[in-house]
Amino acid sequence: MEAVQAVRGMNDILPDQVGWWQEVERVARDVLERFGYREIRTPVPEKLDLFARSIGESTDIVEKEMYAFQDRNEDWIALRPEATASVVRAYIQHKLHADPGTQKFYQIGPMFRHERPQKGRYRQFHQIDAEVFGIDGPMIDAEIMHMLHLFLDRVGVTGVMLNINSLGCRNCRKAYREVLRDYLVSAGNDFCPDCLRRRDTNPLRVFDCKVERCQALIEGAPALIDYIDAECRAHFDAVRNYLEKLGTPYAVNPRMVRGLDYYVRTTFEVITDRLGSQNAIGGGGRYDGLVRDLGGPDVAAIGFAIGMERLILLLQQGREAPARVPPVFAAALGEAARSEAFLLVQELRRRGVEAEIDYEGRSLKAQMRRADKSGARYVVILGEDEINRGELQLRDMVEKTQRVVPLENAAGTIIDAAGHDRA
Ligand code: AMP
Repeated sequence: MEAVQAVRGMNDILPDQVGWWQEVERVARDVLERFGYREIRTPVPEKLDLFARSIGESTDIVEKEMYAFQDRNEDWIALRPEATASVVRAYIQHKLHADPGTQKFYQIGPMFRHERPQKGRYRQFHQIDAEVFGIDGPMIDAEIMHMLHLFLDRVGVTGVMLNINSLGCRNCRKAYREVLRDYLVSAGNDFCPDCLRRRDTNPLRVFDCKVERCQALIEGAPALIDYIDAECRAHFDAVRNYLEKLGTPYAVNPRMVRGLDYYVRTTFEVITDRLGSQNAIGGGGRYDGLVRDLGGPDVAAIGFAIGMERLILLLQQGREAPARVPPVFAAALGEAARSEAFLLVQELRRRGVEAEIDYEGRSLKAQMRRADKSGARYVVILGEDEINRGELQLRDMVEKTQRVVPLENAAGTIIDAAGHDRA
């Protein structure tokens, strides 16, 4: 019979890889919480309308990539393609804006986009997402990028670049839209059908097009950053100034518009040249106005998301997976010894030490091979003779020494040894 396979573009994360994920999540939580972010967990499915209203009807995500379906009540549901819209919905629904001051949230979890799978691009992928509500000044823009940079540094990523741009406010955008549309009309009709349509509906989205012909046609297009008003310009200059004072390296990229409609003013992306065409590790920006558009108060906001698969692909280029090593392995021969070893291992675990045992009663040689393979620092060896003498052998696999330990309070002795080792 043919075995069932996972859905295309959706990956299992197997135990020999999961160390990467745990490590990245641990560092992310540590850094985010230091900056005052609190974890939020929203459902994976949301009403389809939430994404159409926030990300934008004419974006690639909403037009082509959503996992959308009608449930048994015929309500339209979508698996979240990104986290910001869900966090904003929760923020409004639970009136989190009623709490005074700034609110910072983070979320870690799977997102879904029906894209063509390739290395670094999947249909289920994972993001670390951070969102801040309630600050419209430039300080927070700089802080969030500084934090992103610190996180990447702490997790051990090298060779990435922070690109920043300003999309101006909605007013700037309105004026620029006309300029861009005129340019696109003058560039002729060789655009792909999507871009021809977007020229009229949402010309900015032509920048997201992946068709080479279209990219060539917009090469000489006017840059949005040259059309932003004085206030938006001052905001952007202040963000840059803070980044420089913080020592966070960046480059201004006037071509970067990000593929979502809700962004205003500061946008940013972390890119690499080490992952082929899937070069964006993470990105984000300001979305003042979105909270109001989705039925909440007029609250400024900014956020970003990091793609965990791409981040881990990068980390894997330089290192082995972080291994999970039990400090103690118990090998035993004979019924009485096996029973003693089994009880000892359970006690070690109860007292906080990771310990492993061979349950199958194999030869001592086979057990020692397993102990070696497990990477354990200490191996407990127990046979009939040891039991009769009320002892066990404790072998230190690193120092290559072995000593006799009384069975009485053996767990305590081993914990002392393992404890010294850790300290
Ligand atoms: P976006 O909001 O689209 O810029 O996504 C933020 C980050 O999520 C990107 O920079 C990628 O690292 C990651 N990402 C987006 N889409 C995918 C995908 N289909 N597969 C893997 N990672 C993705």
